[in-house]
Amino acid sequence: VRRVFLASPWLPAEWIAAHGMQPYGIWFLPEFGTVAPPCGAGLCGFAHSMQQLAGNDRDSLFVFPSHCDQLRRAYDAAAAMIGSQIFLFNLPSASDSPVAQKIYRAEMERLGRFLIRAGGRTPDPEGLSVLMTHYAHVRGSLSERAERPGREFLECLTGLHTGRPVPYKPEIRTTQSSTCGVQLAMVGGPFPGSQWTLLNLVEDLGGSIALYAAEPGERNVWQDKETIRDSSENDPSALNLELRLANNYLRHMTDVYQRPNTKLYKWLGERLRSRNVRGILLWHYAWCDLWRAEAQSLREAFGLPVLPLEADAAQGGMLRTTGRIEAFIESLQ
Ligand code: SF4
Repeated sequence: VRRVFLASPWLPAEWIAAHGMQPYGIWFLPEFGTVAPPCGAGLCGFAHSMQQLAGNDRDSLFVFPSHCDQLRRAYDAAAAMIGSQIFLFNLPSASDSPVAQKIYRAEMERLGRFLIRAGGRTPDPEGLSVLMTHYAHVRGSLSERAERPGREFLECLTGLHTGRPVPYKPEIRTTQSSTCGVQLAMVGGPFPGSQWTLLNLVEDLGGSIALYAAEPGERNVWQDKETIRDSSENDPSALNLELRLANNYLRHMTDVYQRPNTKLYKWLGERLRSRNVRGILLWHYAWCDLWRAEAQSLREAFGLPVLPLEADAAQGGMLRTTGRIEAFIESLQ
């Protein structure tokens, strides 16, 4: 089965699977994010890694989202090398307006044509319905476990984004099941599975992750009881299913690039309060203005201390990062 690497959890994985291909979240490639990329001016490490992977892989397909300049630039550079294997999905930055729905739906159709040209099959409504129900079950189960984002949650998250019943197992041992330790939130951009050991470190230093809202994480899972209920009752028409899929993604989209980004703050606020979070670890890449700019806004909006963690520094070596996290947790005790 041909693999289709996705660079955003807001891309419709079910739709790709319905075309007979394997959607695979780039965060879970074992080698992804293990080495700090060279610091190229203006290109964040995540977009740089996507570009490199796409340029070196002649077998897989790549879907880039369009939500930031860096990814669009990385797409342009990669498309110059492997034009027929790469697709730019225009993710609407407005929330779930009728226009955004129209755009998302049109992008799904364009993506479908791209997949068929690349050897995929035309999706049949029954198959799509089964896949949508499966994803709804997995997301629902993840959203129930999200309050204690321990190892089981992270492994299930890997399964959701790689389509593997036995997911890639990173060196993660954190249980995060106790409420002892300083309650912290991990918020931010793309977080490679290979970096999950950082969560062990937080635990070792006296912290406890009560909210895992990096990418992909709790922000990208939701309850979808409607799809589960209707799959057993209705005769699915392709049109309705596609519409529902597009609307589902848009309705739950909670991300930093949305304008206005009030949805992100509302979502975070509810969870930070109910889980008694005392500090925020903000995971971001150098040159990622979108997440970096949120540090001060998060401090002001929630009255919580924020520790920005640069992905590039963590990938390059943990010593400085360890010292900073230790000092941050100490200041909250
Ligand atoms: S980390 Fe920031 S700059 Fe990089 S791709 Fe994501 S949003 Fe864009």
